[in-house]
Amino acid sequence: ISFLSQIPYAQPDPIFELTAEYNRDGSTKKVNLGQGAYRDENGMPWVLKSVIQAKRAIEGSGHEYLPILGLEDFRKGCTKLLFGEESPIVLENRVGSSQSISGTGSLHLVAIFLANYYSTTHKVFIPDPTWNNHRAIFEGAGFDVQLYSYFDSHHMALYFERLQEDLLRCPEGSIVVLHACAHNPTGIDPSFEQWKKIGKIVKDKHLFPIFDAAYLGFNSGSIDTDCWAIRYFFHDLNLTGAVCMSFSKNMGLYGERVGCVQIITNTFDEAKNVESILSKLQRSEVSNPPAYGARLATAIFSSKEYMQQWKIDLRTMSCRINTMRKLLVDNLRKHNAPGSWVHVIDQNGMFGFLGLTETEVKDLRLDHHIYMAANSRISIAGLNEANVEYVAQCITSVVS
Ligand code: PMP
Repeated sequence: ISFLSQIPYAQPDPIFELTAEYNRDGSTKKVNLGQGAYRDENGMPWVLKSVIQAKRAIEGSGHEYLPILGLEDFRKGCTKLLFGEESPIVLENRVGSSQSISGTGSLHLVAIFLANYYSTTHKVFIPDPTWNNHRAIFEGAGFDVQLYSYFDSHHMALYFERLQEDLLRCPEGSIVVLHACAHNPTGIDPSFEQWKKIGKIVKDKHLFPIFDAAYLGFNSGSIDTDCWAIRYFFHDLNLTGAVCMSFSKNMGLYGERVGCVQIITNTFDEAKNVESILSKLQRSEVSNPPAYGARLATAIFSSKEYMQQWKIDLRTMSCRINTMRKLLVDNLRKHNAPGSWVHVIDQNGMFGFLGLTETEVKDLRLDHHIYMAANSRISIAGLNEANVEYVAQCITSVVS
């Protein structure tokens, strides 16, 4: 039919495209610092030990449909993970939750929930910069998406004054997307004191906070510590809002698409109604979510032994990343790369935000087979003992 001839060509997603380009590169020197996926000390994908245990435990669980909202034990397990067993939020059943197609699906479900039941006349504020998909997801749901200041590129630091000013300028009732920890792409998070100030603005201006929680455990190696801002907002300030959880990174379940939406309400009845709506929306989107990964996560939540192992696994990943962060900077300094690079050490989570120009990034790719996002965000886990010095040498050569 004729309309098909009018379909424009959409540019491919840059990060997935970068991975494809890396895969096509025949060089033995090539290094992939693009996609945020954990790699072990040999540069290989890593299946967590706790996940291997869980796989054995769920063997033979079959292939039946899950309920529309997903596995109940998974959803409840997620709430407890966020708030702790003794939390009033948990004890009073004040969370409406739904399993989701990982973090992306979780954000999408919240977006369509708000578009249908809160109204797209409210604006959505996302940090500048942020994960590319935030804009696409909320615009796709019909929202006007605006930026709030986040990053001071001059000082490679949080632009906290501007961030506050921008949030204070948001219309009352706006929706604000916050990274719970390990901000992507900058690796820079507010301090506890700064979170308190952000929380006060959110409360005073009746903003609806959405925490994107894709990297819990990656800052500190501990989920409890990395939930600090979430707990502060919903416990201490008693706010309502949403948390969008992903287990792609912290359980290494990338392709299994394991996530959960948590909407924190004021009462049990509100939570029940919210959940009924999530169920209704989910039914026409995916009908019911995938079972395998959620079963793995649930097996981990429900065994003390596997939980213990998961905590060790989280520390294994976060410690290796931190070691590589330091080693990269040591090597940059050893090769006299101009600058102190202290910002790379100070950053959190899975990424390093180097502060290179697009040309320098391109030179690294074309001349040295080193692949990173165009904004010079690197996935630190792509570094290992065997390639870190090469990477530092090449960065030095393109910036000098
Ligand atoms: N939020 C942020 C900030 C992310 O970086 C990612 C993954 N790149 C996600 C959400 C969601 O990822 P997934 O859908 O794989 O859970």
